[in-house]
Amino acid sequence: MKILVVGGGGREHALVWKIVQSPLVETVYCAPGNPGIAELAECVHIAADDIDALFDFAKAEQVDLTVVGPEVPLTLGIVDRFQAGGLEIFGPSQAAARIEGSKSFSKDLMAKYGIPTAAYRSFSERDAAVDYICAQGAPIVVKANGLAAGKGVVVATTVEQAVAAVDDIMIQAIFGEAGSSVVIEEFMAGEEASFFAFTDGRNILPLASSQDHKPAFDNDAGPNTGGMGAYSPAPVVTDSLAAKIVETIVRPTIDGMAEEGSPYVGILYVGLMIADGKPRVVEFNARFGDPEAQPLLVRMKSDVVPVLQACARGDLSGASLEWHDKAAVCVVMASGGYPAAYETGFEIFGLDDAGGMQDVVVFHAGTRFDEGKVVNSGGRVLGVTGLGATVAEAIARAYQGVAKIHWQGAHFRTDIGRKALYR
Ligand code: AMP
Repeated sequence: MKILVVGGGGREHALVWKIVQSPLVETVYCAPGNPGIAELAECVHIAADDIDALFDFAKAEQVDLTVVGPEVPLTLGIVDRFQAGGLEIFGPSQAAARIEGSKSFSKDLMAKYGIPTAAYRSFSERDAAVDYICAQGAPIVVKANGLAAGKGVVVATTVEQAVAAVDDIMIQAIFGEAGSSVVIEEFMAGEEASFFAFTDGRNILPLASSQDHKPAFDNDAGPNTGGMGAYSPAPVVTDSLAAKIVETIVRPTIDGMAEEGSPYVGILYVGLMIADGKPRVVEFNARFGDPEAQPLLVRMKSDVVPVLQACARGDLSGASLEWHDKAAVCVVMASGGYPAAYETGFEIFGLDDAGGMQDVVVFHAGTRFDEGKVVNSGGRVLGVTGLGATVAEAIARAYQGVAKIHWQGAHFRTDIGRKALYR
């Protein structure tokens, strides 16, 4: 088989790493890829959102299956385009990707199908939003309605902070069009976890549990990022809780999307808040989580390719997944300053040392080649995943890997996975 992976971050490096291990696969392309991916696959200079060029490439190279990593091409309709042209592709249609692309769509879906989540209202006028915040009081959560790379959310502890967030989003338009309307949500207390399931639109195949760390600094301080690390399994998600998540959230979501005429195919990412053993939805995403994909794919024992293909073909009924017993912990190394402004272009040292360690896998995210050297080029630069018999051992291994890598200004959290140890 020939497979094309769309994207060029840590998630796509992990997907490529897993896909090249499949005996079914002869050639893997990645568009646009990154220097880490280039060691495993043929990188193609096409941007992840250039759907026409991606289609032309896949058609010309007779690609058997295209796997979409990031949300932007999905919300632009890459799946519809490929299917209309007779090409097999893994991911949700444009209509189904609204579950991530539009918070009001996903909130309305949850209300209609009785899926547990925070109470909310959407507003397209600043003053009405502010009145509502004043009536509700704090803590309260303010979100830009459109896509904002995981950063369009403010958990406000005071009314003033919430009003300032509305002004930033609606008046200053710091997220552009994504902030032309806001969703104001009830604050949910509890512990977060991520839950993923493959689906062909009807059948559901859950993945192992995982948890990510969104805030930039230790002890969950600082602004939210795309994710500073993740681990799997997540002890907060017991087997009985996983069953409850499928029954009360994933099943009604997949059935509801089909009922709405937009069957959801691909991987569904459910961001959860868990309190007193009850899961509620924080958000849905229409793709694999990043960084969660990194520890999850490293732990996955089964070949992922038949599962991706079964989803794309609409028959997941016979599929199953096996997992390695080991725990996996991924520590994200970011550019100094991220998620605010940061400098790029610094040479990264120690990649081979870390990558050569047993039970350590280094995935590239924001890196590029500069005159033969690998330099940082984005906010999140690398994900270093360690494997161990326990989460504690996996944490130790991941940080031994991290210790071998350095560049000017590199920043990482020192407490990834620690939450799992408290249980
Ligand atoms: P989102 O982009 O919707 O996943 O939000 C980013 C982060 O904000 C989540 O991972 C949570 O930590 C936090 N968050 C979002 N909505 C809520 C809520 N209703 N209550 C508490 N925390 C929230």
